[in-house]
Amino acid sequence: MKSLIKTDRKVAEIIKKEIARQKNGLVLIASENFASEAVLEALGSPLTNKYSEGYPGRRYYGGNQFIDQIENLAIERAKKLFLPKSQWKNWQVNVQPYSGSPANFAIYTALLQPGDKLMGMMLSHGGHLTHGHKVSFSGKFFKTVQYGVDPKTYLLNYKEILKLAKKERPKIIVCGYTAYPRKIDFKKFGQIAKEVGAILLADISHLSGLIAAKVYPSPFPYADVVMTTTHKTLRGPRGAVIFAKNKYAEAVNQAVFPGLQGGPHDNVTAAMAVAFGEALKPGFRKYAIQIIKNAKVLAQTLKENGLEIVTGGTDSHLLLIDLTGTGLSGKEAEKLLEEVNIYVNRNTIPFDPKPPFDPSGLRLGTPALTTRGMKEREMRIIGEMIAEIIFNPKSEKIKKEIKKRVWDLTRKFPLYKNF
Ligand SMILES: *Cc1c(COP(=O)(O)O)cnc(C)c1O
Repeated sequence: MKSLIKTDRKVAEIIKKEIARQKNGLVLIASENFASEAVLEALGSPLTNKYSEGYPGRRYYGGNQFIDQIENLAIERAKKLFLPKSQWKNWQVNVQPYSGSPANFAIYTALLQPGDKLMGMMLSHGGHLTHGHKVSFSGKFFKTVQYGVDPKTYLLNYKEILKLAKKERPKIIVCGYTAYPRKIDFKKFGQIAKEVGAILLADISHLSGLIAAKVYPSPFPYADVVMTTTHKTLRGPRGAVIFAKNKYAEAVNQAVFPGLQGGPHDNVTAAMAVAFGEALKPGFRKYAIQIIKNAKVLAQTLKENGLEIVTGGTDSHLLLIDLTGTGLSGKEAEKLLEEVNIYVNRNTIPFDPKPPFDPSGLRLGTPALTTRGMKEREMRIIGEMIAEIIFNPKSEKIKKEIKKRVWDLTRKFPLYKNF
């Protein structure tokens, strides 16, 4: 950051502190990751200077020959990553959405009229705000029906979802979540959508890295539209991609631009292309396999150390701790862990008796630590440390000790050479 330090020491200092925080702590936030230095270089490139409203080959500005190449490359790699070659002709890819939330809005405005009905999982059971919550535009502009998990198992109950869909007849059904630790049966969702004549949107923002690596089921054979952010398990820049079956593609493209957005962020598109290229390499599958192994060992260790895990474990990159029996709220536990440089986020658990700003759960995910190279051994150590903090919230001695152990652990897994 040579130029930045010279021209703006203040901003440079703050950025340096944030980089140090990322390096010196344990990031267990399920939606976060560490993009590679190659991705960061593309993001910080002069492609940020360009205007390129429109799509490759049909832009509203001159000088877009190289931007077209970049966007086409990102699209081509996105298809390679998620679809067998025989399917490429049936799908179109839009890599322009600024992030996951605007991508979902683009999809809804493309496929629904204001007042039409959309059905998604409720936020408190693991859905996203944009899946029909009242405070989100998805719940303001459209009628929404919300499904939840089974009150006994905390798993998706496909019979109940079908029943609700038959009763409510939504035009879109959304599956794919932010805090559901288990496998999603996309085939069943496909059948439900077909039975009620709904469009199936799979929002795989959290899961896309695992799906690309084929370590988690793919929704592509069953969904009409698939959306993913690019910065979570996929480990790219902040942004989003929409895959639409040909039938819906024109409407989706129109909704992204000119419906909702202006010029695409071409530096982000370039960084996406880089991230997709990385995900196409064999090492990415190893990383994805390790993410799930790590999450399973972390869940097991937490259980062995007295903590309750929602659904008893995980099939993915994330798990939910139910703090109900511990005497701590989610907010308190999040803060305690932050004091020792372990970063997690408080989260509602299904049927949470407490309000969303101070819920009864913690959500933990392993993608970021897996990117750093940590494996089962480290997960055991980290699980033990987390339990020790949660069960000894008042002990300054334990906090001090663990903070030191976190420091020592992070020294063994260095992050970023040029930052
Ligand atoms: C993260 C996420 C989003 C929104 O992404 P942003 O980039 O934060 O707007 C949407 N849906 C799901 C399921 C997500 O996990």
